[in-house]
Amino acid sequence: MTTNNETSNQCKAPGVDLDYDREHVWHPYTSTINPLPCYPVSHAKGVHLYLEDGRELIDGMSSWWSAIHGYHHPVLNQAARDQLDQMSHVMFGGLTHQPAVELCRKLIDMSPAPLQQVFLADSGSVSVEVALKMALQYWHAKGEQRAKFLTLRHGYHGDTFAAMSVTDPENSMHSLYQGFLPEHIFADSPEIGFHDTWQEDDIADFKARIAAHHQELAAVILEPIVQGAGGMRIYHPTYLRRVRELCDDYGVLLIVDEIATGFGRTGKLFACEHAGISPDIMCVGKALTGGYMTLAATLTTKTVADTVCSGAAGCFMHGPTFMGNPLACAVANASLALLATNAWQDQVNRIEQQLAELLPALTESDKVKAVRWLGAIGVVELHAPVDMVSIQQSFVDNGVWIRPFGKLIYIMPPFITTDQQLKKLVFAILQSLQ
Ligand SMILES: *Cc1c(COP(=O)(O)O)cnc(C)c1O
Repeated sequence: MTTNNETSNQCKAPGVDLDYDREHVWHPYTSTINPLPCYPVSHAKGVHLYLEDGRELIDGMSSWWSAIHGYHHPVLNQAARDQLDQMSHVMFGGLTHQPAVELCRKLIDMSPAPLQQVFLADSGSVSVEVALKMALQYWHAKGEQRAKFLTLRHGYHGDTFAAMSVTDPENSMHSLYQGFLPEHIFADSPEIGFHDTWQEDDIADFKARIAAHHQELAAVILEPIVQGAGGMRIYHPTYLRRVRELCDDYGVLLIVDEIATGFGRTGKLFACEHAGISPDIMCVGKALTGGYMTLAATLTTKTVADTVCSGAAGCFMHGPTFMGNPLACAVANASLALLATNAWQDQVNRIEQQLAELLPALTESDKVKAVRWLGAIGVVELHAPVDMVSIQQSFVDNGVWIRPFGKLIYIMPPFITTDQQLKKLVFAILQSLQ
């Protein structure tokens, strides 16, 4: 017998089995013994995430920097549908296709001029692996054994082994992986903030380390201007300019990881532009497909690419199964076309101005150590780590989705976020401190 109730339930998509999720599904950086609660999402549109129970949350995270144009975007949806009717995927070895070639052309056209060669990768971490391998193969081809990388404390470059080896040793628990991780060289991270007055001391530690180790260095790798998951630190452009100069002086390659900062997030298309520098190798990911699919890319110069390929191997030794996935490339092309209309510039500027107006007031709370912002990134650093369960609950109760880590509460909302919505995000942070 079918009751009215059952009939109406059949019409709805089945909800998440939260018990099963808790018992069997591993979430990012989450314990299986005592997992934090997860909120089931049924759909997303614009800046909103909709929970299964009907609650509507303003997304302050852009699903980790990626959904810059918002969710369920008609242009991105159409690009995916159109490509679906052509092909979802074909191998990239020996075959090529319009979506990938168009994407590589777009990436080269929008990137710093010397970058002329694109390697498509399937995630940010893989694009970092690719960048590090490029640097190693470059020196190998030149007949030099250079196996070390110089990077910054508080950096984050991904969760795979090589990426982890250049990520902050404490945050990525290098002690735990001792014997498995190659040991690289870490310089003190920049202390002078983006808006502060530059002091030459800030680069001293980096300078000493590159001077001491340059002969064994394949490359320097860092996140330009904004150090993301390793501490949400926003540093002075002169630091980056000095790094470029020192790399040139000592003949060391410079890899910039623009995975979080790329595609307008910091107020420039790429964060490197704040310092007016160009790298030898650049990684992009996260917002590349507007948050629709996993896709990343490593760009480099003709010189690096051709040197790599002049070596013993005769080619670059990498080729993932899903390389150049047409579906992801097609959506990325649509996302980059949206960026090319330049609407992001005003949107990000407006968010930045509003963050500058709203965030300083939060320092009145004695829980707050510092606030900082750049482009569409706002950071509140606390004296003590947050209690994740209660703060997450408080955010959801206040109609927003913000996911802090440790002592950091931060937002990087979709560029389309309105003044009113941004106010609600900052107000929810204020509430969570009380
Ligand atoms: C997120 C991130 C990565 C890793 O990207 P995944 O797609 O998660 O593998 C690497 N570098 C930076 C700067 C990032 O923010």
